[in-house]
Amino acid sequence: MNDKLVICSRCGSDACYEHELEKIKIWSCMGCGFTTNEVMTEGSQLMTESEEVMPELYKDIKFVDDQKRVWYPTVINVPDKGTVFVNGVNKDTWGWAGIKSVATTDEEKTKLKGAPYKSDPTTLKTFPQDQFDEAVAYIGLI
Ligand SMILES: [Zn+2]
Repeated sequence: MNDKLVICSRCGSDACYEHELEKIKIWSCMGCGFTTNEVMTEGSQLMTESEEVMPELYKDIKFVDDQKRVWYPTVINVPDKGTVFVNGVNKDTWGWAGIKSVATTDEEKTKLKGAPYKSDPTTLKTFPQDQFDEAVAYIGLI
């Protein structure tokens, strides 16, 4: 493993987590909440294929850095904590949202194939574009 924190080429924060998966470098920034990797470059087949199944909002707010890497918003989903995702309708009004997980009751476990946690929609909270870290903190990850 060769994980380290580097400067994010999207937002300039030093909270960009660099790691490698199957010899491909991946960057996930805890400052701005965006992610990219070495092969996710502008015009690449991976980008084209990824965008075919991506919500419109993701494509609207993607960012291309000076290395032609394409950054998309991250989705965090930790079953026993919660989910952080991009929320909104367009590139001007989008923000982050967090939903906390709650323990399921015995009755719910039967319905949810034994899942010990579920999303609790009553905990939905939205955050401005520059407060990804606040959303992550809200679900209890930091
Ligand atoms: Zn960043």
